[in-house]
Amino acid sequence: QSNDSYSTEVWQTMDAAHHIHAFVDQKKLNAEGPRVIVKGEGMYLWDSEGKRYLDGMSGLWCTQLGYGRRDLIEAASRQMEQLSYYNMFFHTTHPAVVELSELLFSLLPGRYSHVVYTNSGSESNEVLIRTVRRFWQVVGKPSKRIMIGRWNGYHGSTLAATAMGGMKFMHEMGGMLPDIAHIDEPYWYAHGGDMTPEEFGLRCARQLEEKILELGSDNVAGFVAEPFQGAGGMIFPPESYWPEIQRICRKYDVLLCADEVIGGFGRCGEWFAHQHFGFEPDTVSIAKGLTSGYVPMGGLVLSRRMAEALVEQGGVFAHGLTYSGHPVAAAVAIANLKALRDEQIVERVKTDTGPYLQRCLRELFSDHPLVGEIQGTGMVAALQLADDKATRKRFEKEDEISWRCRTLGFEEGVIIRSTLGRMIMAPALVASHAEIDELLDKTRRAMDRTA
Ligand code: PLP
Repeated sequence: QSNDSYSTEVWQTMDAAHHIHAFVDQKKLNAEGPRVIVKGEGMYLWDSEGKRYLDGMSGLWCTQLGYGRRDLIEAASRQMEQLSYYNMFFHTTHPAVVELSELLFSLLPGRYSHVVYTNSGSESNEVLIRTVRRFWQVVGKPSKRIMIGRWNGYHGSTLAATAMGGMKFMHEMGGMLPDIAHIDEPYWYAHGGDMTPEEFGLRCARQLEEKILELGSDNVAGFVAEPFQGAGGMIFPPESYWPEIQRICRKYDVLLCADEVIGGFGRCGEWFAHQHFGFEPDTVSIAKGLTSGYVPMGGLVLSRRMAEALVEQGGVFAHGLTYSGHPVAAAVAIANLKALRDEQIVERVKTDTGPYLQRCLRELFSDHPLVGEIQGTGMVAALQLADDKATRKRFEKEDEISWRCRTLGFEEGVIIRSTLGRMIMAPALVASHAEIDELLDKTRRAMDRTA
């Protein structure tokens, strides 16, 4: 039956009958009823009541090009007619995935050469843990097995991704594994105390060195982190942080693994977030913006050093996903990357729309009574809620306040995200100045009503 045949209430009742939604109290959601999103075009979404929202979150940090692009739709349709599915197991490949990889590595820095395709960010990080351990086996250091992640980091919801992430409430739901350790997050506003951000950045980075020494460098395989934390609250580390992390990883021969599932594909005004932060990871986990979210696709990108060892000495790579490099996803990814490149969208985020968003954000919110700190670059930003700006005191009920702000955002017709004490925005990279103005004006109205 067509969408028109049901009322919102019927959709909600049927939804409640069959679905477990992520990261929400299901019973509460069933009582309230989820918003039913029925259409997307450009920067906008519509619900089943006909209300229009400016999507300030690119779906879930993925719709770099916005909704409804004809070129992506047609690429999917053409590919389905040509070759709707075949796999990359055993002895076959297909043109779409080969062409995609050529394009992908033309956009990545030259130190990377190979990729393992997946269907999501979580899977990319599952591949990560096995590939990193396999690399150390192949080069004769099989005791290097432990992955170090960060508290409040997020790497997905599958088992190894959850365990490497630092969300304790997810660990408690059956989400921990052996041979995984964590260090603190570089969240200066919350934990920096009397230190300057740069002192604090160094202190957090040196925790990695302490942890490696505690575990024994012969046992540590890799350090995995998001260049900037997303789900944990859009937290940007102090400038001192990444160079020191890189120094430590090199000193102890620990692989540096960047989770770029949300940072990749132009979000910070560079193709990859590690380029913005100025470090050189050994692996790059990708997903989301690779296809602008039109179809699922992700991957784990490997440095030449790792790929050479795995290919030349590793023998059989015993890891495969039926849908790795799916032709339709590959065709969509090609169209998406070509649009980002040929329409100079990433360039525009760096030189035009990104600086515009960041400047207007600071003009509008610096003096806001609820806002203690503004962080962001390119098309990603966070507003830190503060009870007392002078002492960086946070609200006791900051999760309630940020949730209220988000709900008022919906009323105002804008989708922003709340994570405990921070309001987050990450609009599509194609946002115009007028759409950025609308995003910020509506967010400001939601914040004013929250105050
Ligand atoms: N890594 C990061 C940094 C993420 O933000 C996410 C999802 O938001 C993931 C991994 C997991 O990706 P997925 O939800 O596609 O499995």
